[in-house]
Amino acid sequence: MRLTRYFMPVLRENPAEAQIVSHRLMLRAGMIKQNAAGIYSWLPMGFRVLRRIEAIVHEEQQRAGHIPMLMPTVQPADLWRESGRYDAYGPEMLRIRDRQDRDMLYGPTNEEMITDIFRSHVGSYRDLPLTLYHIQWKFRDEMRPRFGVMRGREFYMKDGYNFDLTREDALHAYNRHLVSYLRTYERMGLKAIPMRADSGPIGGDDTHEFLVLAETGESEVFYDSAVTDLTFGDRDIDYDDVTQCQSILEEFTNLYARTDETHDAAIFEGVPEERRRTARGIEVGQIFYFGTKYSEPMGATVQGPDGKPVPVHMGSHGIGVSRLVGAIIEASHDDRGIIWPEGVTPFHCGIVNLKQGDSDADAACEALYAALTAEGLDPLYDDRDERAGGKFATMDLIGLPWRITVGPRGLKNGVVELTSRRTGESEELTPEEAVKKVV
Ligand code: ATP
Ligand code: MG
Ligand code: MG
Ligand code: MG
Repeated sequence: MRLTRYFMPVLRENPAEAQIVSHRLMLRAGMIKQNAAGIYSWLPMGFRVLRRIEAIVHEEQQRAGHIPMLMPTVQPADLWRESGRYDAYGPEMLRIRDRQDRDMLYGPTNEEMITDIFRSHVGSYRDLPLTLYHIQWKFRDEMRPRFGVMRGREFYMKDGYNFDLTREDALHAYNRHLVSYLRTYERMGLKAIPMRADSGPIGGDDTHEFLVLAETGESEVFYDSAVTDLTFGDRDIDYDDVTQCQSILEEFTNLYARTDETHDAAIFEGVPEERRRTARGIEVGQIFYFGTKYSEPMGATVQGPDGKPVPVHMGSHGIGVSRLVGAIIEASHDDRGIIWPEGVTPFHCGIVNLKQGDSDADAACEALYAALTAEGLDPLYDDRDERAGGKFATMDLIGLPWRITVGPRGLKNGVVELTSRRTGESEELTPEEAVKKVV
């Protein structure tokens, strides 16, 4: 992409309405525009990051054997009357009446709808296990929408639902989700810690939230500092292997880590004092096992091996795709701007032309652009006729992992400058060497 042909409305001043750094940087980098309280447009730069996060979520879900689909944003109220949640959900639900006077709603989550789909089409235990998921916009009329996309009213969520014959099978599905989430967040450059949590309006008795530690997080968390040393890494996972998934769950959840809702001071005392931490965290996902809470009232049964109908055991599993954009920035930035992890960066590499219009510099930039593109990377070429200082400030603000700086002086010696956004270190390399390093 060439900056002169792009749409990236960067702000020079700090927007007054932004209270936390990720919101400030997303506005300044021209990633989002607020249209109403808690409702945002994703401008091209923000949209690129959102799409990359979404792609990682899709890949990891499908690696775990989960099946993608798409349900609508608007749902009929009658489904929610069947489960009893239409009244229970309260004012967070955006209720809509259509021209035929039917009660509709903008979905805050999809347990009822997926259960209805399931009961319409699945009748036998032989069709289980089954896990379906989608990534779709949700609406919750939050009391205090704030912090930009972190607590929006409209937000983008991956929500998946498992259907199993027995409690045991459903617990494997739970463990499988936990494992796949560990991998998912790590690919985004994030440390998200699974913590024992409270199930809230989804219901059920087994649940973990995934939290990213950050001062601006809305949850209070208590943990053994040893959990922050655990990494998932490049493990070979067989998602059908019950024992393997169970043992990874244990590895990542045996140490004390809880949100304030389930915090138990007496048990916490058992953690060695020097490892006891109280901090704040951002909830980026949550998994639930809730058994037959929806299948029973909604009649989602299958015929068991003995021919008798049994209600299926279910769980639901959410990832806050749009919230993650803010959470990643909270976890990865400095005074000058965002520092994108490679896995989610909107462009891989910036090219800064120090002297636009100089034929050598222009040609070298074009050649770099072509070479990077040929390697399958997305470069962002700052081809504006601007001062170098302004170009550097923009690149630092938008936080691409690499910057290649091209100027007539370096070119005389056959070199360009390659700078890492994260370390700030620069080195002089030939254009070919620079491309090799970025790839
Ligand atoms: P919170 O405690 O922050 O209100 P939640 O527990 O109500 O979130 P879940 O029902 O568990 O949310 O939804 C799954 C995920 O969707 C959350 O873990 C979070 O990452 C994301 N999410 C929930 N509410 C919002 C929101 N208002 N804006 C952006 N993302 C959200
Ligand atoms: Mg909530
Ligand atoms: Mg919550
Ligand atoms: Mg939650």
